[in-house]
Amino acid sequence: MDIESILLPGIEPKRPLVIAGPCSAETEEQVMNTATILADRGIKIFRAGIWKPRTKPGGFEGVGVEGLSWLKRVKRETGMYVATEVATAKHVFECLKAGIDLLWIGARTTANPFAMQEVADALQGVDIPVLVKNPVSPDLELWIGALERIYNAGLHRIAAIHRGFSSTDKNIYRNLPQWHIPIELRRRIPHLPIICDPSHIGGKRELIAPISQQAMDLGFDGLIVESHVDPDCAWSDASQQITPDVLDYILNLLVIRKETQSTEPLSQLRKQIDECDNHLMQVLGKRMRISREIGLFKKEHDMTVLQTGRYNEILKKRGAQGVELGMDAEFIKKVFEAIHEESVRQQLIY
Ligand code: PEP
Ligand code: MN
Repeated sequence: MDIESILLPGIEPKRPLVIAGPCSAETEEQVMNTATILADRGIKIFRAGIWKPRTKPGGFEGVGVEGLSWLKRVKRETGMYVATEVATAKHVFECLKAGIDLLWIGARTTANPFAMQEVADALQGVDIPVLVKNPVSPDLELWIGALERIYNAGLHRIAAIHRGFSSTDKNIYRNLPQWHIPIELRRRIPHLPIICDPSHIGGKRELIAPISQQAMDLGFDGLIVESHVDPDCAWSDASQQITPDVLDYILNLLVIRKETQSTEPLSQLRKQIDECDNHLMQVLGKRMRISREIGLFKKEHDMTVLQTGRYNEILKKRGAQGVELGMDAEFIKKVFEAIHEESVRQQLIY
């Protein structure tokens, strides 16, 4: 994917990009009060859910279209960019009409290819940044598929939001982080910005700071955090929302480390590692050459390639040597199994 920056004009390209605001827009007053303080604390992008996907009917399902005019007011009076969640073509049209700056796709929508395609079709050819949350279940392909649907609709300002995955195991999180999944996403689509949502991962206020720090240490590009002027009275996700002041405090404490810190001692040690790796490769190559000679000898003397007694002897001897050198016996076993497998393959083809 040829991803372009999701950064908006006037926003510095520095980590973390922060998006903050309440889980849901509740009243015009709550939206304006929260937005005013967030803007004052330096937040540049405001979030608020207008349409809320709820597990069961009858709960607070969002204020709907009326809330869009409150977001327009936030934009006008604070200068912040505004973002909300869309799940249907109608949501998309309403947001475009209201001049919303960024859209995000919720975890339940990402999990549903029909809904994703409907949203992608409604966005066809529109130039607006879209943030795609991971699906509820730990399914990387489904997440990438949703990103591709948006990309194929001609949108190139795209980012992913990691909001954790539901799990039946007992744990401290509302949604398990399973960091290896966004890490693999980064490996597969290196230029795609990834934003962490510590609010939905943690589910509780006290986990927001440590999860945000972990995300920064893993090189995530931004954070989307739920913030409310009166979190205890929030109409949705009360236990995971923090006041703008607490958010400001947490952001100020974050340590942002650089991915590459080329300090002299580190590069010296890396040079030594490179030399070791070079030796290892030379020795492995030599070992394989000898293996091929053994293969020829066996062929000429009508012997089988696999000589189990010899293989067991190697595993035993090198396992013991490995432990003496401070390595794990299981690790040595794996290494020699892999070397032996390649030796056998070489003996069979030559
Ligand atoms: C939200 O951001 O308020 C939300 C509903 O999140 P998710 O889709 O991650 O559950
Ligand atoms: Mn929420």
